[in-house]
Amino acid sequence: MAENFVARRLKISGIVQGVGFRPFVYQLARQYGIKGEVANTSSGVTIHIEGDLENIDFFCIDITPKSPPLAHITDVSIQSESVKGFNDFSIIESQAGTHRATLISPDMSICGDCLKEIFDREDRRYQYPFTNCTNCGPRYTIIDDIPYDRPNTSMKHFKMCDPCQAEYNDPGNRRFHAQPNACPVCGPQVALYDNTGKIIETQAPIERTATLLKEGFVVAIKGLGGFHLAVDARNHDAVLRLRERKRREEKPLAIMSENIDRISAYAHIDPEEERLITSLQRPVVLLRKKEPNSISAAVSPRNRYFGAMLPYTPLHYLLLSYGFTALVMTSGNISEEPIAIDNADAFERLSDIADTFLIHNRDIYLRSDDSIVRRAAGSVRFIRRSRGYIPTPVFLKHKVPHILACGAELKNTVCLTREDNAFLSQHIGDLENLSTYEFFQLTINHMKQILDIDPEIVAYDLHPDYLSTQYAQELEGVEKISVQHHHAHIVSCMAENRLDEEVIGLSFDGTGYGTDGTIWGGEILVAEPDRFTRAAHLSYVPMPGSAAAIKEPWRMAVSYLYNAFGEGFWDMDLPGLKEIEESRVQFIVEMIKKSVNSPMTSSLGRLFDGIAAIIGIRNRVFYEGQAAMELEMTAKEIGDTVYDYEWVEEADVRKILPGPIVRGVVQDVKNSVSASEISSKFHATLIRLFSELCDDLRLETGLKKVVLSGGVFQNSLLLSGLIQALEENNFQVYTHTHVPTNDGGISLGQALVAAAIAGK
Ligand code: ZN
Ligand code: ZN
Ligand code: FE
Repeated sequence: MAENFVARRLKISGIVQGVGFRPFVYQLARQYGIKGEVANTSSGVTIHIEGDLENIDFFCIDITPKSPPLAHITDVSIQSESVKGFNDFSIIESQAGTHRATLISPDMSICGDCLKEIFDREDRRYQYPFTNCTNCGPRYTIIDDIPYDRPNTSMKHFKMCDPCQAEYNDPGNRRFHAQPNACPVCGPQVALYDNTGKIIETQAPIERTATLLKEGFVVAIKGLGGFHLAVDARNHDAVLRLRERKRREEKPLAIMSENIDRISAYAHIDPEEERLITSLQRPVVLLRKKEPNSISAAVSPRNRYFGAMLPYTPLHYLLLSYGFTALVMTSGNISEEPIAIDNADAFERLSDIADTFLIHNRDIYLRSDDSIVRRAAGSVRFIRRSRGYIPTPVFLKHKVPHILACGAELKNTVCLTREDNAFLSQHIGDLENLSTYEFFQLTINHMKQILDIDPEIVAYDLHPDYLSTQYAQELEGVEKISVQHHHAHIVSCMAENRLDEEVIGLSFDGTGYGTDGTIWGGEILVAEPDRFTRAAHLSYVPMPGSAAAIKEPWRMAVSYLYNAFGEGFWDMDLPGLKEIEESRVQFIVEMIKKSVNSPMTSSLGRLFDGIAAIIGIRNRVFYEGQAAMELEMTAKEIGDTVYDYEWVEEADVRKILPGPIVRGVVQDVKNSVSASEISSKFHATLIRLFSELCDDLRLETGLKKVVLSGGVFQNSLLLSGLIQALEENNFQVYTHTHVPTNDGGISLGQALVAAAIAGK
């Protein structure tokens, strides 16, 4: 044997099973004339290779960058081995139980090869809406146990035909071990029904659906992670009808277009956004509207953005090929309930909304909403991290025990940890109704099963009334650790940035239960994973009517005005309060004076609401954060002029007084300064104020790292302005780019706080 004939053993970890990794290795080995074998193991894939040293080196160099699109390699270890004298290269069948600790791929959009097939008249999968291969298709949503093999997926009901089985068995085929492999002969089928559950006889259900949509009907379409409700986005009456039936007044509706050209007709899209929207995860991307455009004004009212996405299943591509500029594709639910996934459930819950149902017989085991992202301050920002990204873990700096973190109440997600992986769940929703709570429990059980995690610690929010808190407290045989909401926000951002030292944390949101029982939300913390001190916060004001003050920002306006002027604001003739009856305003003032149902809050989100109402932008919101968002969108460029601001120091805590800012805003309103200018100035004020506060804290503590988290940072003006101001001031600034800055990311922080506390 030649002197330079060597053998190596490679151990690959990450998402390397069920993604065509072994066939890829097989072909790469053949390309370099290498002999040996590849096998799945409990921790990933092991490869034995032998051949010329040079070819072995090339193989090792290529293995990561050339790996299949759905593979996600986290570690490669290479060791010398003795030559065993293999005659060829082969794939070893995996044994049961070998895949337990491995990672499961998310659901991914159809790949280019499969797309070609469904539009190729000569191909046996021509127009087949469930075409997939190892490089694409459903994963997470169709698994109900591990290992990831067909009998543990909802494809178990479909026996592969001979040609499909042959593809499945052939290591040279891109459908080798593609668990959801199917074709028109052996796989799932679509069918069209009316809303009474009666089948609509047709040879071409998808074409017929396209016709119905063009005629203005609302169609419920079963997709990958659940049902969508679809209408033609250019048909204003149809969009209004959908909104009315779904009871969704103003919250923007997502739209889907066939390709980038179609999207460019109604929205601006820069190269980075194009990269994001065409990525395999196919998220909904917020894109700036072009004006004028042909999309119904009811799709995204009073908003500068459209939430647009490209098709991600063969079914979507087939449907959109009938020539739509865009289809509204909003989640198949009423208001904030979980989206329907089951056919029977869909008929029951959606028959008052949809006229027709395009369904199929491949079950969805776990619902997964569309993910929503945007580009802001130079990076990807998650608004909702769900389909396409779940269950790819966040990779942690240190190993942690098995922990379950239950999340907060709104935009709930849960998080499970194992070694140095943190698995966030898909978007679960607002834990305010029973069906969402059931989905929350189902998701926890499902994830424990498929990730093989048995939590020893459970982390939960400090708020005693959250359903997630109650769930945690009822668990038995686990260590229970409660975590303050804003601390969890900061540690969530630290975790994804792999920070574990003391930092200055700006934790800004609408609502979170404080250690003193008040409602926090404008918090500057000095924080570490296992502890924090509250260094500064917005001064408390009452929230007259409690939850009603969130839905009706004018109540917050009254609270801030009363705080700034006493009863003197009475005859100021402010535009926002004009439409409110005087007796109601008076009543609210009485509530404040007598502290009736008026919890105290330091929330920055509420200050945004209050300012929005004072300047006449919005008195009542239809969805969380609407007033604040419209205030942001009113603003133009941020300039140098700011309102007066002030903080006072009491018992080592700096309290930021809202009074001077509110008085400045009111003065401008009286001088007929435009809402746009006031909003810009308000943003500029906050940026300067917070960056000065950080300066102050650096002097005191020596800390130079600032972490930004909380729902308020969905405001991209504030986010980018603050990053810039702090960086100019020589701070190192850390923000969220992997999980949402809103409460959708909070379970990650809870888990890491619990890990730090338990580890002491
Ligand atoms: Zn494919
Ligand atoms: Zn088949
Ligand atoms: Fe929050």
